[in-house]
Amino acid sequence: MNSFSSFSLREEILQALTDLGFETPTPIQQKVIPYLLSEPKDIIGLAQTGTGKTAAYGLPLLHHTDTSVKTVQCLVLSPTRELCMQIQTEMQKYGDQMRGLRIAAVYGGVPITGQIRDVRANPQVIVATPGRLIDLLERKAISLENLQYVVLDEADEMLNMGFREDIELILKNTPAEKRTWLFSATMSNDVRSIAKRFMKDWQEFAVAAANVTNENIDHQYFVANHHNRFETLRRLLDFAPGIYGIIFTRTKQDCQEVSEKLMKMGYHVSPLHGDMDQKMRSKVMERFKSKQLQAIVATDVAARGIDVNDITHVINYELPDDPEVYTHRSGRTARAGKSGICMSIVSPKQISNIRQIERLVKQKFHKTDIPDGAEVVRKRLFFYMQQIADAEPKDEFAKLYFDSMHEQFANVDKDELIRKLIWLQLKDTIDAYSDSEDLNAGFERKSGAAGASGSRYTRLFINIGEKDGLNAQRLLQFITESTDVEPNMVDRITVRDLSSFFNVPTEAAEYIKEHLSNKKYKTRKVRLEEAEQSRPGGDRGGDRGYSKPQGGGARFGGDNRSFGKKSGGSYGGGRGRDRDRGDRS
Ligand code: AMP
Repeated sequence: MNSFSSFSLREEILQALTDLGFETPTPIQQKVIPYLLSEPKDIIGLAQTGTGKTAAYGLPLLHHTDTSVKTVQCLVLSPTRELCMQIQTEMQKYGDQMRGLRIAAVYGGVPITGQIRDVRANPQVIVATPGRLIDLLERKAISLENLQYVVLDEADEMLNMGFREDIELILKNTPAEKRTWLFSATMSNDVRSIAKRFMKDWQEFAVAAANVTNENIDHQYFVANHHNRFETLRRLLDFAPGIYGIIFTRTKQDCQEVSEKLMKMGYHVSPLHGDMDQKMRSKVMERFKSKQLQAIVATDVAARGIDVNDITHVINYELPDDPEVYTHRSGRTARAGKSGICMSIVSPKQISNIRQIERLVKQKFHKTDIPDGAEVVRKRLFFYMQQIADAEPKDEFAKLYFDSMHEQFANVDKDELIRKLIWLQLKDTIDAYSDSEDLNAGFERKSGAAGASGSRYTRLFINIGEKDGLNAQRLLQFITESTDVEPNMVDRITVRDLSSFFNVPTEAAEYIKEHLSNKKYKTRKVRLEEAEQSRPGGDRGGDRGYSKPQGGGARFGGDNRSFGKKSGGSYGGGRGRDRDRGDRS
């Protein structure tokens, strides 16, 4: 595999990449960069966001830029303001050490005067949305007559958003001999027709749609009746205390409503949709990137501009109509080699849509139980304990108050203190879930998941869980590779911290137990037993002992939410609800 240094990029760029810690080129970069450095030709790159496509065209673009010349040599067109800003920021980093390089970004939604100033300051590279660029061309603020390279980034999205005429107009006003590099997630007819009209003799480069076949994504679905959809979302959020996620809704109205409801309940979320003005949207993005928000509630179009690498969860509040859109959504997580979870809340009728998406994604989705109250409390307890374990109090603080603290608790037993602390932290959760209902749509159990006696399925317990690096996908793989059981015989996988559960046909249960028991998963010897049937659906699984909770470090203070009417919960992280609400448009 090539390293960046094997490409004949200019020294300043290679140095910047080293400084950025880029070591190995991504697949699209491997294919495209050497070609664009040597061949003065048009190309089409089929690659989605997250594949490293910006650097794939950005590095050769900068390489070919003559910084001693003060004319616009490169133009990157992109569909949204957010993407423009990201591209500019990325390219600025790559060209950090190129003396005299200027990159201007122009996009709608902000006053044009500042941008006129920017483009008159002789940038060599302009990153633009089509509409604003035309505005600037009409005002004669920009000249494209010396242009050598045009990049159409997310061309399919620009066409979907109705920019066809604008793109055509812009391309008609560029020199005939320039190169055109088109990047698109899909090769739609519209994309092909733009290419045929405006490009010559192009070479195509495709990378396996990274987000479609991303094996680091655990696809889960939860079956709830429609009237329980919102409650299910809450339950999933509560069950993922370290979540840093995106919740997708189908409509702007849902987006607004769902986020308002969540905000009122004390969740640190904010909506992101097309009816919000640009200023508001960037403010939301800033807060999300700085992790003041645990999740964004977004529509598909608004989410296009989100460029964040460490999203832990994508939640589909509703499945999209188009299965392709599912892959765009799920691809927001598990980026840059990380793993992630994509959860979909579906009604019983929508299970067929899941099957359709499974075929497209070529991965099995895991039907997962909506956790019950006890599981939520347990999860948050372990999360909180881990936060305490990981906390590193500042030295000065400890010195300053240690005597007072010591005095106050001198006569309190350690166990009592722990109980008090944990109770304070979790009491809202415990109250809220003291009598919580089962949100799993009832139909499944009737039709045969592990029930009480005489059911067709048996639920098995296995002594490995998240702590062993397991997720549902990996457990399924372990089971099928260690026995000759077909994947479709294993159902309702629930991975807990230390252990997991799954259903198998009763007649196969003994066989599976026998063949898996005493096998090793990583270093742990595996043990299986029949799960107790505490209620239909099987044993929900206990955390036996302690484990590191999912999500890692303390992102959002403590268990600092209040639940519905029981407001007044303290905000350990010091980030109040009011600030979240302030962003509502
Ligand atoms: P993109 O697909 O262009 O939106 O890039 C996704 C993210 O991956 C960006 O944050 C880039 O900075 C980062 N990235 C791109 N190429 C590499 C690479 N070769 N190594 C590490 N990170 C990269």
